[in-house]
Order: sequence, then structure tokens, then C-alpha cells
Amino acid sequence: MSHIIHRSLRRTPPVAVSGEGIILRDSKGNSYLDASGGAAVSSLGHGHPDVVDAMHAQIDRLAYAHTAFFTTDVAEELAARIAYDAPGDLDHVYLVSGGSEAMETALKLARQYVVECGQPQRHLFIARRQSYHGNTLGALALGGNAFRRKPYAPLLMDVARVAPCYEYRDRADGQSVADYTASLIAELEVAIVAAGPENVIGFCAEPVVGATGGAIPPTPGYFKGVRALCDKYGILFIADEVMCGMGRTGTLYAVEQENVLPDLVALGKGLGAGYQPIGAVVARDPIVQRLRNGSGVFQHGHTYVGHPVAAAAALAVQRVIQRDCLLGAVTVRGASLRRLLRDAFGAHPHVGDIRGRGLLWALELVRDRDTKEPFAPSLKLHEAVRTQAMACGLIVYPMGGTIDGERGDHILLAPPFVATEADLVEIVARLQEALERALLSAGV
Ligand code: PLP
Repeated sequence: MSHIIHRSLRRTPPVAVSGEGIILRDSKGNSYLDASGGAAVSSLGHGHPDVVDAMHAQIDRLAYAHTAFFTTDVAEELAARIAYDAPGDLDHVYLVSGGSEAMETALKLARQYVVECGQPQRHLFIARRQSYHGNTLGALALGGNAFRRKPYAPLLMDVARVAPCYEYRDRADGQSVADYTASLIAELEVAIVAAGPENVIGFCAEPVVGATGGAIPPTPGYFKGVRALCDKYGILFIADEVMCGMGRTGTLYAVEQENVLPDLVALGKGLGAGYQPIGAVVARDPIVQRLRNGSGVFQHGHTYVGHPVAAAAALAVQRVIQRDCLLGAVTVRGASLRRLLRDAFGAHPHVGDIRGRGLLWALELVRDRDTKEPFAPSLKLHEAVRTQAMACGLIVYPMGGTIDGERGDHILLAPPFVATEADLVEIVARLQEALERALLSAGV
């Protein structure tokens, strides 16, 4: 019996023992193609020697120093690099241990900023109905994902909600993309006005939605509209790039492709590519200047903030991405993956949509392609896909409950940036087999 409280309290998962490149192995000798990098984490694959060496060197030198007393050269270097690579005046970095901590930090930084601007009545965030921003209580309150929120309701923080930008499901027949986009922006404005703009701190969204919906890129101009509204009402725009950031969509920040500058960006997953737990918040200069000239303190902190070994790992990851021109590789391989997925599943009766950007792709599964009717939640099709994919030696990231927190199954793919063309071909072939087996096992 395992003494770990696993997510499923009835089943112990296989024991992972080693990883190399795109391959993971378990204690029974099975090997798996890691086509989702866990949950869009392992962007360099497993066992990358440059990252491993950088971590060893840092552990030998200094494993830990508390930020109440010290900063470290490696954390400073990582922050400088993040600031240098970030667009606009996103110049200031707060290093944490993961995506949820990054989102909590962004929420608190935003709140402290409005208070120090002399607007303490601003207390409300606006987020989208179909969203996930982390599992800690603040981030959970922000996200709209009903099945995750349900056991903990009522949540600590009140959040206003608007529709996601989900063209496949929500754009009406005959409605142009421009009109659909305009309707979303209009809805956001109504929500801001209803809340009272003077009460709102910020609007938060993932530039490309990751797990809660499955690799959904925004419609053209959507984030431009968001930015314009935030400027109009003096509201902060917080981009959650925990999953879509750090090169996953072909640019270091997904929001760069929207030509929009957020006020705060949350990073996680790909920042350390799984080699260490690390996340970050990147803040625009005026936000930090306001606190510097005000209280002079950011009232926040965790024991492992700016952890040197995590910083060394993330720095090495970022160097490899640049040295090996991996953003270009993401774009090229992403185009191949799109083609392979469309060839394999474009006419599949139960694949309603194939979408994504860079190396973040998803298949949305439907009972009926014409009506887009989702599968019944009781079928738990996404779980059958996970089981069958693993039986086929494939790790993908299937998710359910993404429509109204109940219905909706999709399969997320996020292969490492170092995946070869042959890897992608094999991934898609195994996914075809896994999906057929899953449909069969679910009695479809
Ligand atoms: N935000 C987004 C968009 C995510 O996808 C996730 C995790 O999946 C998080 C936040 C939370 O990150 P973590 O699981 O590292 O706490």
C-alpha cells in the first residue's frame, strides 16, 4: 500500500523510475512517449544534460539561502534574463515554486498596488467561466472550473465571470469572427460596469487556454479589446501564462502574438521545464515603482522564494531554448503536428475540433460532430483515453468537465520542443490506437 495521498485514493499509479528525452520508464519496464510533458511541463524532455549539470553545480556551491537575509547571483541572473526577454516594461520578477503560487502572488501584488494607488475599494477580479488558474484557495476562487471549486464553495474571494473566448462552441452559425469577438468584449464591459469599475482590480485570462478547454487560441483582436477596456477603466490585465508561456506556443510569451502588453504575467511549468518546481510573476515597471515609492515593501513571501537550485535549473532551460533556437523548432514542429492530427482525426466521427498553437494542441471529443453534442460525463471518456494511451505507451493529458464544469472531453498534447518529426508521427499513431480502444471500452 502506498502511504502517499494520491489523487485517486483507490489506485496507485505506476512508479516512474527514469526518463530520457521524450521517453519515460516505469518500474515494470514499460516505456512511454511523453507527448504532454506531464501537463505541458517538460519542454526539454527528460534528463537534459545541460540542465542537470547546472543543477549539480548549484547544489555543490549553495543549495539554499533564505530571502529574508540574502539574494543569490543565480536568482538575480534568472530574473534579469526573464525581464530582458519579456516584452515592454515587464521588468520585475518575483520567483516562486509553481503556477498556483505565481497566481496568488499576482493577485496579491495587484491588490497591494491598487491599495497603494489610494483605491482600497478595488477588491474584485473578473475571470472567465471556463478557466483554471491554480488549486490554492485564491487561485481556485479566480478560476471558473466548477468541478474543482465545488467541494470548497463558498470560496474566499468573490469573482465576477464572463464568457471564455471559445469559438468552436460559442460562435453562432453565420456570426463573423469579428462580431463574435466584439460580443465578448461587450460582455466584459457590461461585467465591469455592473461591478462598478471603481471596484475592480483586474481581469485575468490565459492567452491560449491550456487544460480547461484544451489548447484554445483567442480570436484575432480579442486581447486587444481586453487591453483597451482595461485601459479605459483603469483595470489591470493579468495574463496567466503558466501553461502557454515560456515558448510553448512558439513565442516566449503567448501574449506577444496578440501584440498586447499585460500588467502582470504568471509563469510556471515551462519555466523550469520540470527540472525543479519554479514559477514567477513578471510585473510592469509602474506597478513596482508605485510600491517602491509607497510602502517600500511587497507584503508577501514563501520559504522557497528564489530557490537557488530551482533558479539554476530555469536559467539553464532558458539558455538551452535560446542556444538551440527552440522557439523556431516549436513553430516548425507545431505545423507538422497540426498536419498529422488533421490527417489522422480530421474526419473522425468523434473528434469535433482540432486546435492549438505552437506545440500545444488538443482534440475535442464529441458524440456527434454535427451537433457538437458532448459525451455524457458518466462515461468518463477522458479517463478511458488516459488509461488506454498509457497501455499504448503514450502519455497525453486528457481532461473532462470543461463545459459548464460537467461535460466536455478533450485530449491535450504538449510534446517537448526537442521532439523529432518521427516522434510526432509515432505519437499520433499511438493516439489513434488509444482513442479507438477508449471509445470501444466506453461502449461508443
Ligand atoms: N494556471 C494555469 C493556466 C495552469 O494550467 C496551472 C496548472 O495546470 C496553474 C495555473 C497552476 O499551476 P501549478 O499546478 O504549478 O500550481
